[in-house]
Amino acid sequence: MALSNSQYDAIMREYGKQQMENQHSQDARKKEIYQKVPAVKELEAEIAERSVACARKLLEGNQEAIYELREKLADLKEQKALLIKAAGYSDDYLELHYRCKDCRDTGWVDGHKCHCFLRAQMKLLYAQSNLERVHSFHTRRSSDLFRRLV
Ligand SMILES: [Zn+2]
Repeated sequence: MALSNSQYDAIMREYGKQQMENQHSQDARKKEIYQKVPAVKELEAEIAERSVACARKLLEGNQEAIYELREKLADLKEQKALLIKAAGYSDDYLELHYRCKDCRDTGWVDGHKCHCFLRAQMKLLYAQSNLERVHSFHTRRSSDLFRRLV
């Protein structure tokens, strides 16, 4: 059985919802960390600032800038990770957390449906066929009833 367009859309809408939820919970975790470890926010600001400065230098033709930035960013990111760890949080606390790591909640991996998509598809088709069975059962019963009445 194949998915109809509206069934496909329904599944993709769920992925969209999940991605938004992931984003919201990441934002909440960030807020929490910024409150508990303000230095993390400062480090992130510095990372952003340096990245912008590097982009400017690259535009001006300074190709070395990218190497300097890479080194500096690695250092800043390490400091950030240490601060987060020291406060008792896991390394990936500020990363996006996915329900399915394989497709990062997009439903697709390398142009193929992810196993989580196939599961959602099966669930939807199964629910649909059950619904149809129940519906045809009721229709049959009411037409029997109708036949007996007339
Ligand atoms: Zn998946």
